[in-house]
Amino acid sequence: MKKIAVLTSGGDSPGMNAAVRAVVRKAIYHDLEVYGVYQGYQGLITNNIKQMDRGAVGDKIQRGGTFLQSARCPEFKEPKVRQQGIENLKALGIEGLVVVGGDGSYRGAQRLNEEGIKTIGIPGTIDNDINGTDFTIGFDTALNTIIEVVDKIRDTASSHERTFIIEVMGRDAGDLALWSALAGGAETVLIPEFKKDVQEIADKIQQGIERGKKHSIIIVAEGVMSGKDCAEELKKYINVDTRVSVLGHMQRGGSPSGIDRVLASRFGAYAVDLLMNDESGLAVGIQNNKLTKTKFEDIFSSQHKIDEDMYRLTNELSI
Ligand code: ATP
Repeated sequence: MKKIAVLTSGGDSPGMNAAVRAVVRKAIYHDLEVYGVYQGYQGLITNNIKQMDRGAVGDKIQRGGTFLQSARCPEFKEPKVRQQGIENLKALGIEGLVVVGGDGSYRGAQRLNEEGIKTIGIPGTIDNDINGTDFTIGFDTALNTIIEVVDKIRDTASSHERTFIIEVMGRDAGDLALWSALAGGAETVLIPEFKKDVQEIADKIQQGIERGKKHSIIIVAEGVMSGKDCAEELKKYINVDTRVSVLGHMQRGGSPSGIDRVLASRFGAYAVDLLMNDESGLAVGIQNNKLTKTKFEDIFSSQHKIDEDMYRLTNELSI
């Protein structure tokens, strides 16, 4: 393989730039020509593809977001539309493509792989919801962003003896909520994977108040219910002064953490290694601190699982 390309797709995550940098530098190191596709699959269709030299990824490792930009491109599910993208790549002599993104982006990558472009996926999403890897790029940074906010909210919560409900991202996966609840010392966490009764939460807050607790922090993943709805529900069972904070898109921004930069660099370089080795239809990952590769179909064959031990531990430590 002489020419490869890289794109970022789906929701952006801190560390995507570090992954692109690693792909570009590793490819050039091995005398490959490397191209950046701007705006994800959209740019593949519109031929927004530019050759990258080593300087093109300079001063990018510390930046959040993705300088290649990302886009949602639903029409990429249509074979005819994908064919246009494939023709654009082939016209430049590009045989291999690295896709940095989430589950949906992997589905597009799998199709491209079946249709003649060798693809490798890199897990880039703050949700940490991709099978075949313990961690996705951006999760650690987003987790630290949430923890910082939880710490700050805790200060004001205890000054005013309030119950704070903090809504964090996670439509289908509770990893961000769970990890931030454990790390932030929250009293309660609500995640899509486990049902919890609001009455049960109210009882716990009441017991805390009786023991002299000055504040309570509840972390709710957006996929369970909104912070506002959670506050409304809670009011039915307990009379406490409640405030809601919706963290929203701030969780996706910011300079990537050291962990995310290192992870992204390892993933990017490994993806190039695999393509040079003529391997494709795979996503890279990390399991027990070892780089791994998993076939796309194996990634899609099961649901992402939450760490049940961690859920139990979070509940045990927040008594
Ligand atoms: P995040 O987890 O951050 O949402 P994602 O990669 O799962 O990231 P999606 O919006 O689901 O984000 O997918 C990104 C893009 O991948 C879509 O806009 C579309 O272009 C492409 N894609 C998704 N599903 C398919 C599919 N079944 N076939 C082809 N392309 C797809």
